[in-house]
Amino acid sequence: SKRNQNEPEFLQAVHEVAETVIPFIEENKKYQNKMLLERMVEPERVIMFRVPWIDDAGKTQINRGFRIQMNSAIGPYKGGMRFHPSVNLSILKFLAFEQTFKNSLTTLPMGGGKGGSDFDPKGKSDNEVMRFCQSLMTELERHIGADTDVPAGDIGVGAREVGYMFGQYKRLRNEFTGILTGKGLSYGGSLIRPEATGYGNVYFTQNMLELKGDTIKGKTVVISGSGNVAQYAAEKATQLGAKVVTMSDSGGYIYDENGIDASKLQFIMDLKNVRRGRISEYVDQYPSAKYFDGETPWGIACDIAMPCATQNELDKADAEKLVKNGCQVVGEGANMPCTPDAVTIFQNAKILFSPGKASNAGGVATSGLEMSQNSMRFNWTAEEVDKKLHEIMKNIHAACVQFGSQEDGYVDYVKGANIAGFVKVADAMLAQGVV
Ligand code: NDP
Repeated sequence: SKRNQNEPEFLQAVHEVAETVIPFIEENKKYQNKMLLERMVEPERVIMFRVPWIDDAGKTQINRGFRIQMNSAIGPYKGGMRFHPSVNLSILKFLAFEQTFKNSLTTLPMGGGKGGSDFDPKGKSDNEVMRFCQSLMTELERHIGADTDVPAGDIGVGAREVGYMFGQYKRLRNEFTGILTGKGLSYGGSLIRPEATGYGNVYFTQNMLELKGDTIKGKTVVISGSGNVAQYAAEKATQLGAKVVTMSDSGGYIYDENGIDASKLQFIMDLKNVRRGRISEYVDQYPSAKYFDGETPWGIACDIAMPCATQNELDKADAEKLVKNGCQVVGEGANMPCTPDAVTIFQNAKILFSPGKASNAGGVATSGLEMSQNSMRFNWTAEEVDKKLHEIMKNIHAACVQFGSQEDGYVDYVKGANIAGFVKVADAMLAQGVV
């Protein structure tokens, strides 16, 4: 940890995995070989570069671009690009490390990677975003490829940004290949990819509840975030008969005790994806709802909590509130949204808790399906993709149960996901020698 002492998020992610994987390694001698875990925590390659671009006022702006090529033992590097002012090496290394285990869990052949920039898309014009994306891809182009490294979206990177990056790659290389996922449908995207992370999180929650003979129908759900993951988690939960009562953004949260139904969600999608406004505007449209400025929604009573915004957005005090209010399930849609002591509170209370690397893996899994369709030059229907997504989430759940079941019947999904994800990558690394 001395070597990465300025990287708190990365250390947090590694500690969480090490806690469950080291005891497993101690029981399974073959994994003690060849500095396996030590190699896993060192990225195969880190690329960091200047992204210069010109704003609408004609002024030159400089951002920093990154790509972490973490682990390619089981497939090409795969993981999203994040555009947010907080982006730094620590955050991207934590995300790339998590991604390696997550991608392994999907059962598809994808290694782990992550990238992004400290660029802030908020308040930028379309043309500024386009020039930024073109500049970033002008450097990134030489480091990625359909069989090398396939980036995708994440915070601040949606269909618009993926489109601009794809266009620039194609222009530089004069080749039309699946070098990014999350593409628009008209140029190689997959049906259900936009929905996949949020839907997958709800499917995973359903699987957890089913194991206890329960269902999501009639449950009250508290969601944070109002971006890609939050929107589609809300959509699927509502479709399955649950009532979603909160959504949020970095400004605060809205509470609608009547539930955010399909038409209200459509308003949020338009607000966030088209008009790029703030969640506070919801109460102008629906005055019976309330807006809480600068707050997170974890004090609202619920059966299910789905943190879908960002890392460390739910701490110990929030976890205590949720437990006190009778919450039964926490399904992480974001990556590492719950702090380690929040997770301990949930597990001690025997609440069903799924870590993001398991429950949000539907997004990257469907990106894997997009890669397959691009390679085949063929598209599956929405029903076919959704069916595969269902299967994959079910298999991830089963793998967590296999490796995470405790003597008292409680499933430690953190342990299960970490060990199941570890085994495949570890076996591949051992087979490929010290590289
Ligand atoms: P979006 O950019 O679409 O949405 C992010 C949402 O979270 C916005 O509502 C945003 O509010 C809020 N948010 C972001 N940063 C903060 C912050 N520091 N504090 C409070 N709120 C914040 O991103 P996604 O929905 O794609 O991603 C959300 C999470 O899900 C991330 O952790 C991501 O890594 C994870 N994830 C995403 C996948 C995908 O397929 N997109 C796949 C797997 C995981 P505001 O608009 O105010 O910034």
